[in-house]
Amino acid sequence: MTTIPHSKPSLGQDDIRAATEVLRSGLIAGGPVVGQFERGMAAYIGVQGGVAVSSGTVALELALRAMGVGHGDNVILPSYVCSAPWLAVQRVGAQARIVDIDPVTYNLDPHKVRKARTSRTRAVIVPHLFGLPADLTALQSLGIPLIEDCAQTLGATEQGRAVGSVGLLTVCSFYATKLLCTGEGGMVLSNDEALLERVRALREYDQAPSLNAAAFNCKLTDLQAAIGVTQLNQLGEFFEKRAALAAIYRDSLPAELFTPPSVPSGRAHVYYRYVVRLQKGLQSPDEFTDYLSRMAHRGLQCRKPVFRPLHRYLELADFPASDEADEVALSLPLYPSLTEEEVKLASRILQEELR
Ligand SMILES: *Cc1c(COP(=O)(O)O)cnc(C)c1O
Repeated sequence: MTTIPHSKPSLGQDDIRAATEVLRSGLIAGGPVVGQFERGMAAYIGVQGGVAVSSGTVALELALRAMGVGHGDNVILPSYVCSAPWLAVQRVGAQARIVDIDPVTYNLDPHKVRKARTSRTRAVIVPHLFGLPADLTALQSLGIPLIEDCAQTLGATEQGRAVGSVGLLTVCSFYATKLLCTGEGGMVLSNDEALLERVRALREYDQAPSLNAAAFNCKLTDLQAAIGVTQLNQLGEFFEKRAALAAIYRDSLPAELFTPPSVPSGRAHVYYRYVVRLQKGLQSPDEFTDYLSRMAHRGLQCRKPVFRPLHRYLELADFPASDEADEVALSLPLYPSLTEEEVKLASRILQEELR
């Protein structure tokens, strides 16, 4: 029994109407609505253009391919993230150089990036985790091309600049439970039209001037894009609800037991996730798991915000900040359709089940 799931897509009448219209048109593959969604996303982020693809993971892979990253190159990425960025680097045949995170924000630590760079470093994948922008200013000063991973953060700013508008390339994911969803889906965005043209050539095999072994079929459909367009129109409303619910968590949970997310000055948080730091009581992974299942028994689904850090999968040592995050970070339910009462109930269960 789950009465408060950890995440939930925000779908309403507008999305149903938009999808139905495409079905009625009989043109359900990629077409004009995909183009409309691409232009809408590019305008929202503040870049020249976007190329819609079938997932965020594919978007990462095509971003790397468009840059010509491959064998003999390396790409820097954080340990504390889902495995999608690592998979994309594997797929293009490059080497992933995994670095630790900032222990306070859970985002990439620019100092670690500087130490990890070599003459073969071609790019840094910069996930903006949980709705909080990474330290783009410090990362940009390193002079390595940045691929911003906006799968978890849209509409947030760092020193007044929109996330997604700073890197050479930006990728988004529209998976069912992301900020803006199309079921599955992704996009590569950039100010560089030549790079976007290469991504376009890679997502489609048909009618190419020559055979390209790296090309594939990973297009988005109009059916998905129609939902994307209506979701994009609602994004401002979604963010207002998320911020209001985050504020209720902040007020109802004692900060000494559940440290709230910290937002460094000059950055804005859009609360894709509300991730607290547990202060006590959970000395071992087993106790953490027990805590999660006690809450699940009462209908509250909380999660580890990252299933397993990459360095743990790969058995790499010396990642103290990612290790700590893996031990103390807890992600609470947060999505636009969650009610104020549910947040208060969740806050009560979180405290009562903490031993
Ligand atoms: C979800 C996610 C991805 C992958 O996106 P998919 O659409 O699921 O392939 C990549 N990076 C981050 C940070 C994500 O949260």
